[in-house]
Order: sequence, then structure tokens, then C-alpha cells
Amino acid sequence: MFNKIALIGIGLIGSSIALAARQKGLAKNIAISTRKQQTLDKAKSLNLGDEYFLDAKEAVKDADLIILCTPIGTFENIVKNIAPSLKQGAILSDVGSVKGHVQKILSPLIPKEIHFIPAHPMAGTEYSGPEAGFSSLFEGRGCMLTPSEKQDKSAIKLLSDFWQGLGSNVEIMDAEHHDLVVAITSHVPHLIAYNIVGTASDLEGVSKSEVIKYSAGGFRDFTRIAASDPIMWRDVFLTNRNAVLEMLEKFLGDLDELKSAVDRGDGDALEELFTRTRAIRRSIIEAGQEIDMADFGREK
Ligand code: NAP
Repeated sequence: MFNKIALIGIGLIGSSIALAARQKGLAKNIAISTRKQQTLDKAKSLNLGDEYFLDAKEAVKDADLIILCTPIGTFENIVKNIAPSLKQGAILSDVGSVKGHVQKILSPLIPKEIHFIPAHPMAGTEYSGPEAGFSSLFEGRGCMLTPSEKQDKSAIKLLSDFWQGLGSNVEIMDAEHHDLVVAITSHVPHLIAYNIVGTASDLEGVSKSEVIKYSAGGFRDFTRIAASDPIMWRDVFLTNRNAVLEMLEKFLGDLDELKSAVDRGDGDALEELFTRTRAIRRSIIEAGQEIDMADFGREK
């Protein structure tokens, strides 16, 4: 599909794109750039690309598609650095988990002849770094593209075909709407997980070793989410503040009602909610977004 793609950042998402693009034959040449020599050496030893650079502006030369795969807070400086070296007519995209902010900050920095099409693959794990990637990460998962209305349709189609080639189900969406959707499906759940694991570790009267030793399934599942990369998630909450606050407000209202139901011993209210939430879990399994195994298929 592309003669040359450049991946700026080669952590979980960048390395998964590299592996899948190579496996599916979507790029003849894959150039990789990252900040640290150690990470670049790791990417090289894993044979993730064809060319390796510490300076992103070297990597983007002659690239038809450039994807920013670093934490959102780094995008602005990276784009300032690479903008003069971008090939005319190239597509510049990213994989950041927030889209409104990215669009606002980057749009003024991008030369007119470059097609800027932000993207967000809804796929990930709690692991980071070049060794965390795997080629099937995007299979069957959503990928939202949030181009501006003026963006060239053929460039959108090309990027959409690329993500479909990686295995994703692509949807084109308005950036503000994207941010609201992910605030409730991804960002607030992470905040809740960070909070509950933090509360448990600060609890007086129950020791940290008891929390670890007797961690029940529910708590363990929160710790998986709360083990996600601190820098990436710091940037998500710094850049999707309004949507997160809006959803958090709704969440706190519902939590307050739930607290009252527990307080007054209202079994009907609890049962009604728990029945509804169980049905949501079934729908996610039926949509192929989760495995149909008890306790996520853990053996113990
Ligand atoms: P990651 O595994 O932590 O990798 C981050 C990469 O960015 C590394 O190659 C790191 O390189 C590089 N990097 C960090 N700071 C940099 C800087 N200042 N300048 C240049 N490179 C820098 O992260 P990830 O999980 O792949 O996430 C990358 C992006 O994908 C984020 O924007 C995130 O919002 C988005 N995303 C993540 C997930 C997920 O579940 N993880 C899902 C969807 C989208 P060095 O080691 O050389 O510093």
C-alpha cells in the first residue's frame, strides 16, 4: 500500500503497527524513530523495521505515511521538528487516545500540502515498550479516524484501508464526539482503577501485604488497568479534561445513588442495576470484543 511508512515512537502501539504492516505487506519500507538509543537498539534487535533513526526528521524523509506513536504530550515538539522534512502529499497521522486536543495543537503546525488525519486504535494492553507489541493487536478492534471536514477524501480512504489492512474496524468520527465516547469507555474506567488501587494501598488497618495476598478477582482486574503506563495516562487526563470531567460528574451522581441504595438496604435497586450491567458484559462478548471464558480464561 505504501512505499515507505515512518513510525515515530516504537512502544506497544508502534511496534504492533510495524509487525502487522510487515506481516500483511502494507509497506515496502518501515522507518523507525525513537528518543532513546536503548529503545532503538531493542527495536533493531526485534527486527521491527528497515531503517532506524534517533532524529525523527531523518525517518520521515520520503515517507508516504507518518504515524506518531509517542505519548500525546510529545506530539507538538515532534511535529515542529519534522514538518519541514515531510514529503509533499504525505499523510501525517497519530494514535493518541485523545483527538480534540491533538487536532487543535497540531493543525496550525502542519504544512498545507500534508494530509493530517488523526487516528485512535481502540486496542492496547497494560504493557509498554517495543517488546510489548504483537501483530494481532488490532484485529477485530475499532479504529476511529477524526479528519477535518476539509480533508482530502482519497487520503482518508488510503489511511482507512491501511487500518483495515491491520485488522481494525474503521470508523470516521468527529473529534469532540470521539473524546466523549472514550472518556466513558476508557478514560474514566482508568481513573477509577487508579483510584481504587491507590485507596487500597493507603488503607489504614489493612496492610499492603494483605491487599496483595488476598487480592480477590475484582481487585486484581483493577490492578491490571492501574498498571498502565503513567506518562501516557497522565497526558490523557491533561488533554481530555472537559470530556473526562463531564463523564466523571455523571459517574459520581450514579455512585451517590448506589451508596444510598446500600445505605437504605434497597435490594431491588441493587439487583436491577446488577442485572443491567451483566447484560452489557454479554453484549461485549457477543460483539467479539471479549473472550467468553470465566475469569478471562485465567487458569487460577
Ligand atoms: P509506550 O509503549 O510507552 O511507547 C512510547 C514510545 O514513545 C516509546 O518508543 C518511547 O521511546 C517514545 N517516547 C516517549 N517519549 C518520547 C519523546 N519525548 N520523544 C520521542 N519519543 C518518545 O506507549 P504506547 O502504549 O505505545 O502509546 C503510544 C501512544 O499510543 C500514546 O499516545 C497513547 O495515547 C496511544 N495509545 C495507547 C494505547 C495503549 O493501550 N497503550 C491504546 C491506544 C492508543 P523511548 O523509549 O525512546 O523514550
